[in-house]
Amino acid sequence: MPHARTRWTELVDAINQARAEYYQQDAPHLSDAEYDALYAELVALEQEHPELVSGESPTQTVGGQRSEMFEPVEHLQRMYSLDNVFDEDELTAWLDRTEAALGSVPELLCELKIDGLAVDAVYVDGQLRTLATRGDGRVGEDVTYNARFIPAVPRRLTSASGAEVPRLLEVRGEIFFPVADFERINAEQQDLGLPVFANPRNTAAGSLRQRVDRREAELAAVRAEGRTGERVEARIARMEAELGRAVQRLENLKLTVHGLGAVEGASVSRQSEGYTLLADLGLPVSERARVHDSRAGVHEFIAYYGEHRHDVEHEIDGVVIKVDELARQAELGETSRAPRWAVAYKYPPEVVRTRLLDIQVNVGRTGRVTPFAVMQPVRVAGSTVSMATLHNMYEVERKGVLIGDMVFLRKAGDVIPEVLGPVLEERDGSERAFVMPTRCPECGTPLRPEKEGDKDIRCPNSRSCPAQMRERLFHVASRGALDIEGLGYKAAIALLDCGLVQDEGDLFLLTPQDLLGCPFFTREPGRGEEGPQLTENAKAMLGNLDAARQQPLWRVIVALSIRHVGGPTAQALAREFGSLDAIASAAPEELAAAEGIGPIIAEGVLDWFAEDWHRDIVAKWRRGGVRMADNVAEVGEQPLAGTTVVITGSLEGFTRDSAAAAVTERGGKVAGSVSKKTDLLVAGENAGSKLDKAVSLGVPVVGLDGFRALLDDGLEAALTHRTET
Ligand code: NAD
Repeated sequence: MPHARTRWTELVDAINQARAEYYQQDAPHLSDAEYDALYAELVALEQEHPELVSGESPTQTVGGQRSEMFEPVEHLQRMYSLDNVFDEDELTAWLDRTEAALGSVPELLCELKIDGLAVDAVYVDGQLRTLATRGDGRVGEDVTYNARFIPAVPRRLTSASGAEVPRLLEVRGEIFFPVADFERINAEQQDLGLPVFANPRNTAAGSLRQRVDRREAELAAVRAEGRTGERVEARIARMEAELGRAVQRLENLKLTVHGLGAVEGASVSRQSEGYTLLADLGLPVSERARVHDSRAGVHEFIAYYGEHRHDVEHEIDGVVIKVDELARQAELGETSRAPRWAVAYKYPPEVVRTRLLDIQVNVGRTGRVTPFAVMQPVRVAGSTVSMATLHNMYEVERKGVLIGDMVFLRKAGDVIPEVLGPVLEERDGSERAFVMPTRCPECGTPLRPEKEGDKDIRCPNSRSCPAQMRERLFHVASRGALDIEGLGYKAAIALLDCGLVQDEGDLFLLTPQDLLGCPFFTREPGRGEEGPQLTENAKAMLGNLDAARQQPLWRVIVALSIRHVGGPTAQALAREFGSLDAIASAAPEELAAAEGIGPIIAEGVLDWFAEDWHRDIVAKWRRGGVRMADNVAEVGEQPLAGTTVVITGSLEGFTRDSAAAAVTERGGKVAGSVSKKTDLLVAGENAGSKLDKAVSLGVPVVGLDGFRALLDDGLEAALTHRTET
């Protein structure tokens, strides 16, 4: 018990400190996942030792004291927090409890849990009276002045249907920063040399909780002094710029309303009905809320947005499930902290903290030396992460991370993990700065930038640096190049280590006999066999090498690792010149003038063919039977030329890459986002926001059938499979 009390005090202190940083300073130093873990530990401890619970415990209070920076506003009705569940079992327990308390199965309203900050808006006779933050749930901070700069918060309500506007209306909602604006604002902050924001939630809170009125008053006071001179003018210009930025931030804020407080002059019986009323009055409600009468519906909603978390304009950290009928909500009531009639299902965290154990460097295919973070493995957004690229030494500097630091790590959905920055409070002086090596860690050659001013430094020993050879071999086999299954990383290393290839030139001269000399490709003889035998993988690799000899010219060009030449450029080269010999002997002007090429790529091509050992690779591949020219007929056959397609969702029988390649091989273009210029959206299973966008722009949409027709017979044939939208 003494131990339990000590731990309780520690937890309460840590949680209260985190709450102050999060709600008052908009600068948390714990990740949400860490905060949630402390909170869960406190809940468990109090369940075991109920005598520890007091009115001040964070489990009994709504987080966040009001800051003295703002005037207090008392909410007409209390604002609550939400109880969280973190997995299916906990959700089932909540559903069981709710059904048991009500004696029947309620209809459930499912909504996205927006990761923003809670506000309370009071309208009297349709006029905005106050806008306030949640504070401790009873008293919040007055930010009404700022509302004038937030177009998303209506200052006056009018009913679209002509209904009467309620005399009194108190609504609750979430102020958020759209993800797209967040990225733009952060880029601007960086350009101005100002600190970047850790996430859209902090940006929203920091933007709303600005004293714009004070800034305006200060500026007016300086102007009123009427002094002139360079220094005063510079000061005024600076103040104007800062005010402009503050206002712009407010203008970017959005609001989604998700609750009702005190209401006079209107009556609704369901929460969902309330949203219809609010929408009619011009208040922004979510279009994604859905009422479900079964558990299966709730689970589907959760699963759907778990997959489509990043297809939404704001960040979400979960789904909120609410009993829809207001009479039943009242029956269930609230605890001192949260309603019993609602629960938040939290998705796995996307920002966590972990220890940066080391910064190492990697030598890439083109010799580029890239620092990367080696971290204590940590689970984030559904997978375990232990490495993340740091791009270049300037990026390491900009992030301000030291080896040994505790760092924030982010991985959003399928996105590549990213180290955001250090947790400065955790430093103890033992951390050390990363020093970029001056010699290649694999071959010892002095590193240098290719040209003056380059951020990247490279190992110039491209011919025989083992790292670069390995990466090039691996690249030849990659899906975007010659697509040789069986020639993976390990096989590439084995080929080099056993001396079977000096570089990629030797790849197509390999014989089964050669491979028998390298243990990686062999197995023990079976019964009736003599001597080592090729493994199945080795045989498959040889078969796939054979098939690769017949790949179209553009893939051969990609496989050569020519600087700046990826898939689309290689296709342009193949289309314009038709053979590798024609490319190698083309004059610089001819290359630069060809469609889709340009001077930079032309220079890359010329430089590449200027190297003897590069021409040797071509000669060896020719000897090895690799195709060096496209048939004229094939080059001319571009049924999808001029057609722009966007692909979304999953298409049976295709990967993302193979579907895109099928279009580009036929001369079509695959774009990343839907616009008016898109000719066709191919929407597979689980298509997300791109589908909505296509529908709103009137872009034709087809499914798998339409996609097959597109590949076989062109755009017109595809359009006959157009789905009704
Ligand atoms: P909460 O954010 O988990 O849930 C309650 C809030 O959800 C409500 O106040 C409401 O504003 C919001 N919400 C969003 N969408 C909603 C919807 N559709 N319907 C109803 N409400 C919706 O609870 P909380 O008490 O505000 O904060 C706790 C959470 O805040 C923690 O779980 C953690 O993620 C974060 N936090 C982090 C730190 C930190 O140090 N990193 C500190 C404190 C809190």
